[in-house]
Amino acid sequence: MVAQAPRPRREASPERWRAALNRAEKEGIEIRQLVGSGGWIATSGRDRHSAYELEVTGGLVHGCACLAAQHDDPVCKHRAAFLAEFGGFEAVAA
Ligand SMILES: [Zn+2]
Repeated sequence: MVAQAPRPRREASPERWRAALNRAEKEGIEIRQLVGSGGWIATSGRDRHSAYELEVTGGLVHGCACLAAQHDDPVCKHRAAFLAEFGGFEAVAA
């Protein structure tokens, strides 16, 4: 991974959430809950051996371990997949 200059913080919008969900579906991203810890993960769309930890509190997803989220992007395909699976997607994509 090559170091990149920081990009300006991206904004959430219904269009971006819908685009993120489209990518998640196209890439077959799946949401799983770890039986032992109760933590949530989203499978990687690029690397079938990897998954990203999701931050979920009270059924609400508010963080992800992926690169986009680490760069303060409030939208990513992993969170979109969680919202679509467990509710809340309509609220952000409306
Ligand atoms: Zn993510």
